[in-house]
Amino acid sequence: AKSEGRNLYRFFEPGMDATVQTRRALEADLETALPRQEFDLDFQPIMNIESGEIVGAEALMRWHSPTRGTVAPDNFIPVAEETGLIVRLGEWALRKACAAAAGWPSALRIAVNVSAVQLKSSGFARNVISALAFSGVPASRLELEITETVLMDESETVLKTLRQLRELGIRIALDDFGTGYSSLGYLRRFPVDKIKIDRSFIRDIGNRDTAAIVRTIIGLGSELGITVTAEGVETEMQLDILRKDGCVEAQGYLIGVPSKATDIVRLLKTTVAV
Ligand code: C2E
Ligand code: CA
Ligand code: CA
Ligand code: CA
Repeated sequence: AKSEGRNLYRFFEPGMDATVQTRRALEADLETALPRQEFDLDFQPIMNIESGEIVGAEALMRWHSPTRGTVAPDNFIPVAEETGLIVRLGEWALRKACAAAAGWPSALRIAVNVSAVQLKSSGFARNVISALAFSGVPASRLELEITETVLMDESETVLKTLRQLRELGIRIALDDFGTGYSSLGYLRRFPVDKIKIDRSFIRDIGNRDTAAIVRTIIGLGSELGITVTAEGVETEMQLDILRKDGCVEAQGYLIGVPSKATDIVRLLKTTVAV
């Protein structure tokens, strides 16, 4: 079976060129997708667990390609990061998200994902300020979600940018919390207003050990004065546990799936009682 495996490997070697070709085609399609307006944003509601009120929404990018159909962000964002397109794409998302939020009740916050490449690009803070000014949305309504990869190289530039944004009143959320190498270390070194517990923890919250970890993160957040949001909440059971543990916010299919900007407003009117 071993030699068979080796043969297979050899057999598929020419296929690696095909992979490169497929990749190049994707990169080319992505590049034209922005001017062709193939990108869109969906918004997923975020609920305050105690009050049951929707307090904001996260913007999630969608690519509707005429040839590929709808492509999930996990399949194109890494490519856009490598080609550098993410800088323009991210700027577009920021503007689009702020424009949508301008039409929402003023209590609703808008959360936008920011890639490491984007945050490190020159003029990022300026673009954020410009998107806010153009939409008329106050900085206090904007949350920027960053992952640990942003903080990994501990550059002084990143720290400076984060401080500058926070001084304006923008909130910084640490996304996918608990999945990285040094989640706690980052909390100590970087200014963060919010922690989003990765949905893998919520999925396994029925497990005793995982439940203990989640409870500890929630406790940590409250000690540090950091809002804790649970991601990927899909069941009443998960929400009940989170409520008992004092988790502040929840996001997930149970509360609402990602949907069009106007549906968020409709959701607000039909007071959710979960
Ligand atoms: P994320 O920031 O962790 O976003 C949450 C993901 O979980 C979204 O996937 C959302 O649709 C999904 N989700 C929400 N609730 C549930 C649930 O109850 N169960 C399950 N199984 N999944 C749930 P999506 O939209 O496919 O986005 C994937 C990732 O792509 C995002 O993960 C984020 O890292 C990235 N992304 C999306 N939009 C942007 C963007 O505008 N800019 C950047 N840089 N990254 C983005
Ligand atoms: Ca996010
Ligand atoms: Ca996340
Ligand atoms: Ca993620």
